[in-house]
Amino acid sequence: MIVYNLSCARGHEFEGWFTDSATYDSQEQGGTLVCPLCGDSKIRKAMMAPALVSSAAKPDSVAAPVTPEAKANADAIRQYAAGLRKFIENNAEYVGPRFAEEARKIHYGEAEERHIYGESTVNEAKELIDEGIEIAPFPVDPEDMN
Ligand SMILES: [Zn+2]
Repeated sequence: MIVYNLSCARGHEFEGWFTDSATYDSQEQGGTLVCPLCGDSKIRKAMMAPALVSSAAKPDSVAAPVTPEAKANADAIRQYAAGLRKFIENNAEYVGPRFAEEARKIHYGEAEERHIYGESTVNEAKELIDEGIEIAPFPVDPEDMN
């Protein structure tokens, strides 16, 4: 699974879960991606946020793609993000700014396979994705966005 931070032409930001980047491309080109807040179909990828490496063991509730029904409901998205955040905090090890380094070690088998989260720069996140390392943005708490 891969998660992108997406935004519509009106600047709404939201998350989209995809099987892989090709799935994102086909949905984006097919015009089936819509903004959950305004229904706009001009969707593009937003900047990467601090990220999470997921191991093979992922709960269904986290790996499930956002359904059209959920997309239509901002509250559902908020609940989904809160649940995902809780899952990460309960199941992942916080590695702070060493995120990119640790993610590589795990990917290349130099460290124990586990969930981690921490901070990374946009460039670090891009490099990890280029290396085929599966990362996802850490869902922000809507309470903190005010
Ligand atoms: Zn929108």
